[in-house]
Amino acid sequence: MDLLEYQGKQLFGRHGLAVSDGKAVTTVDEAVAAADEIGYPVVVKAQVLIGGRGKAGGVKLADNTEQAREHAANILGLDIKGHIVRTLWIEHASDIATEYYASVLLDRSEKKPLVMFSTEGGVDIEEVAENTPDKLIRRNVDALEGLTREEAVAIATDGGADSDVIEGVADALMALYEVWIEEDASLTEINPLIVTPDREVKALDAKVSLDANALFRHPENADLSDKENQDPIERAAAEQGVQYVKLDGNIGILGNGAGLVMSTLDVVAQAGGEPANFLDAGGGSDAEKVKQAVSLILANDAVKAVLFNIFGGITRCDEVANGLVAAFKDLEPDVPFVVRLDGTNDVKGREILEQADLPNVHPAKTMLEAAQKVVELAR
Ligand code: GDP
Ligand code: MN
Repeated sequence: MDLLEYQGKQLFGRHGLAVSDGKAVTTVDEAVAAADEIGYPVVVKAQVLIGGRGKAGGVKLADNTEQAREHAANILGLDIKGHIVRTLWIEHASDIATEYYASVLLDRSEKKPLVMFSTEGGVDIEEVAENTPDKLIRRNVDALEGLTREEAVAIATDGGADSDVIEGVADALMALYEVWIEEDASLTEINPLIVTPDREVKALDAKVSLDANALFRHPENADLSDKENQDPIERAAAEQGVQYVKLDGNIGILGNGAGLVMSTLDVVAQAGGEPANFLDAGGGSDAEKVKQAVSLILANDAVKAVLFNIFGGITRCDEVANGLVAAFKDLEPDVPFVVRLDGTNDVKGREILEQADLPNVHPAKTMLEAAQKVVELAR
């Protein structure tokens, strides 16, 4: 679950990281009022879940009311790499002496948290990693110990931070680590982490991803998700408790169990097709759940054919077949379905489908056969 910059900054602030106060607004008039109140110069910032806003014209400094109005009007509604700006964050502009970079993430290969720091902040960090990797310092942290003060100081020192701000950078790294661990984040990143002319260390930007599966531990964070800008089908699925991820292709996928769905995506790709979604109907999918899943899949206009891949265990194939029949009655889909039922009550399931004599439903025996069939039908 990705947070907007200003939401990330609010979390940072709660953990003692220095950030500028500001205001989130959604109209030009609100933006101007906020800017007047905060005091000039202000920075007007597009709030979208994508980086590189500055380069795209989504971050502008304003010295007075007129400029604030002009920038707010230009940035609201702006399309930044497919993300439409609906919210602005207005904060008092900071003076910048130096721009650093800092982040904390999970290093899966080392199975440890990873702290990264660079004095080459403000720019695309991937470029720094690619072209001047020695300018990006990477340190694994013992998850049980946490990031110690000594380690934080060593990272700042070895990373080349100015000697008078080593302590300030170490404080920022420790706070960033604290946000990561205590808020169950998968990523906390500051680019740029600035040093002001007064030698204050401050987060000018915030990129935070929270682990949505840990939200039950942080009910206060639940409404931070950017619902307004979330894909409407994914949002509906989340509200119904269905695991659905929208993808770019045209073949709707339903399976039971995340592993089976993943392999189904792979086999469809192998057969030359492009999946339109990931959907895990879960164990024990009853008829009602199947109907719900079908309507989510069909809500995506790109879908030209659907593959049902059910391996019955706890899930009974006859229940799934009943669900499919009910879904067809209700939704009258106009795209073909390929159905592979295997495992618990599969014979009964296939009988139900046969008796229902649904138009446009094609049974398949194996996963590969099903994938090949659905790819052909989607063409
Ligand atoms: P991003 O482009 O999406 O990463 O957005 P950032 O929040 O990082 O802003 C982009 C750039 O705008 C920063 O690297 C800064 O150089 C500049 N910027 C942002 N806020 C301020 C500010 O308060 N004062 C000044 N002088 N520049 C700022
Ligand atoms: Mn940035």
